[in-house]
Amino acid sequence: TGRALAWPPAWRGRLVDKHSTGGVGDKVSLALAPALAACGCKVPMISGRGLGHTGGTLDKLEAVPGFHTSLSPEEMRSALERVGCCIVGQSEELAPADRVLYGLRDVTATVDSLPLITASILSKKAAEQLSALVLDVKFGAAALYPTQESARELAHSLVAVGEHLGIRTSAVLSRMDQPLGRCVGNSLEVLEALECLEGGGPPDLRELVTALGGLLLWQCGLAGGAEQGRARLGQALDDGSALCTFEAMLGAQGVPPDIAHHLCTGDSPQRRQLVGQASVQEELPAP
Ligand code: URA
Repeated sequence: TGRALAWPPAWRGRLVDKHSTGGVGDKVSLALAPALAACGCKVPMISGRGLGHTGGTLDKLEAVPGFHTSLSPEEMRSALERVGCCIVGQSEELAPADRVLYGLRDVTATVDSLPLITASILSKKAAEQLSALVLDVKFGAAALYPTQESARELAHSLVAVGEHLGIRTSAVLSRMDQPLGRCVGNSLEVLEALECLEGGGPPDLRELVTALGGLLLWQCGLAGGAEQGRARLGQALDDGSALCTFEAMLGAQGVPPDIAHHLCTGDSPQRRQLVGQASVQEELPAP
């Protein structure tokens, strides 16, 4: 439903995106979109909100003061021209039926319906008019699908429909038996994504970001293979270019420049001051 985005012919082949079936602590998109843009891709990412117990990329980004998740198609194009990436929500213009179906699924016990997940994810990706897409299909205790076999079935459905839509599509099966990284919660996940964007952060997060990004760089011809793509993406995290692109993306999506700059360059306590904080906090030390 809605409009399909249109892009300059010169971007053909380089329009890429990633989507996950949802997990706990999954902040991959926050680091991956700017890292891919820093490698020369164009990433018009249309993300989702929390569904069931899984967190949503848009909810996480809204922990940054001023961040707008609703950009018009023209604003998206301008962000891609200037920055190389943006992360937005579906809207009245882009995949409007997904909002209705998303809400209905939450209250009709159809969150884990294979055809509805396929439609939900790929309706947004079809609207983006992508060249290449990688899907992170989770399995395990905190995923929509508990077993690797059921996740593989979903991956086959997503890849088959993606290919029918003319998008070069691949899927990675990844475990979701424990949170990705060490942080869960919108503000905390933004802070952990920033650590990844400056070349640090938890190893499992970096592993997934570079694996998914490496595949995409290969699929769109910017790397000779997935391993080479992984190394190139890791370099963008290590040399500061991904972080710089994240700062520019925040600016393009409404975050005041001084906040975007301090968030990206400040130390941990300074960053914590800038993002939303829970009014009640309690420490629960593990024995
Ligand atoms: N992400 C989506 O956008 N839709 C789903 O159904 C699951 C994950």
